[in-house]
Amino acid sequence: MYEDLVTLIDIQNLEKQLQDEKLVLSEIEKEKELDSLLIRFKTIKESLNNYNESLELNVKAYRELEIKLIDVQEELSSLEEEIYSGKSNSKELHYMLQEKDNNRELVNNYEEELMRKLEEGELFRDEIDKYSLEEEKLSKLIEEVRFNYAKEIQVLEDKIKSLQDEIIKLESKISDKLLNEYKTKGERLGFQLACYIKQDGICGGCHVKIPSRTLRDINNHKTAKCDECGRYLVIEKN
Ligand SMILES: [Zn+2]
Repeated sequence: MYEDLVTLIDIQNLEKQLQDEKLVLSEIEKEKELDSLLIRFKTIKESLNNYNESLELNVKAYRELEIKLIDVQEELSSLEEEIYSGKSNSKELHYMLQEKDNNRELVNNYEEELMRKLEEGELFRDEIDKYSLEEEKLSKLIEEVRFNYAKEIQVLEDKIKSLQDEIIKLESKISDKLLNEYKTKGERLGFQLACYIKQDGICGGCHVKIPSRTLRDINNHKTAKCDECGRYLVIEKN
């Protein structure tokens, strides 16, 4: 029975380690670092999409203006041709000169507008370059973090597996009766059905002083439980 109880304490310790590793694993799986990176990545993507859309509209508007400008310039040169042909009377000439001025002004306006569109397009391109660079860096970082998590998780899972294997191996070494008692009563006792007696004759489970009668029994190789908490008491032999 003594050996069984010592083995049970080993099982309990392994079980404790197992729970700790599982906790670490669940913490890693809940890890917020990746979440915040993914949120940032999404924001960058959205900005990038917005700037690309704006640039597309800008390019379209620029082309439309160019076409308008060409039309007005064509009209302007045909007006000039007619004005200089000398075929028109003064009334017609007056009207055409006015038209010419109007078209000149339109040309100026279109040219100014084109310059503005060009500058605006440059700004959009700069922003797109900036965000693309950031997107690239961030996606590399996310890949790295994911890789490291996967590695960490693998290490922990291996550890958990080996602890579980070790527990199963040790469980096969103790009597079915004790194992059964551990499985049924263990939970109530925080999975500590057996514990070592502390140096000053204190129960390692509940820290209450063990009566000298019980200590004598244990020293005489009898199996005894703590009166207070009901755990098996075991002398630690080094
Ligand atoms: Zn106790």
